[in-house]
Amino acid sequence: MLRRSFLPLFLFGVRALAIEPEAGAVRGKLIAGPAIQTAGGKSIALSGDDPTMAVLGDSRLAGMDLEARGHTSAPGQFAIDKIHTRSLFAYQNGKKRMVTYWCDVCYIRTFSPGVCWCCQDNTKLDLIDPDKVVKE
Ligand SMILES: [Zn+2]
Repeated sequence: MLRRSFLPLFLFGVRALAIEPEAGAVRGKLIAGPAIQTAGGKSIALSGDDPTMAVLGDSRLAGMDLEARGHTSAPGQFAIDKIHTRSLFAYQNGKKRMVTYWCDVCYIRTFSPGVCWCCQDNTKLDLIDPDKVVKE
């Protein structure tokens, strides 16, 4: 009984270590440009819609291990999917997190930095488990 219960845990551990960016995604360190610096040292310029660019320009995310979904638009250039498709992730302590912003006052979640549209307070960066996102 006890022995068997270790197996799923073990498998989960292996899966967590083997996280790779999905096809149609880039992963690496977010650097000024904005660009992604891959583990191999390659720098890939990022483009996207205005809310996406606002996220990439967020100083709180600078230097983080980021993953973006989209497609290669030209050599060394990557076009990120529209913000509403939830294309931006950050890795925190080895776990994949969705990049969102949260207003503590109104309990409103947004996907781009700035002031809350309700109370005009600054939203805080809130990296959340993508599996726990309530579909809106
Ligand atoms: Zn608010």
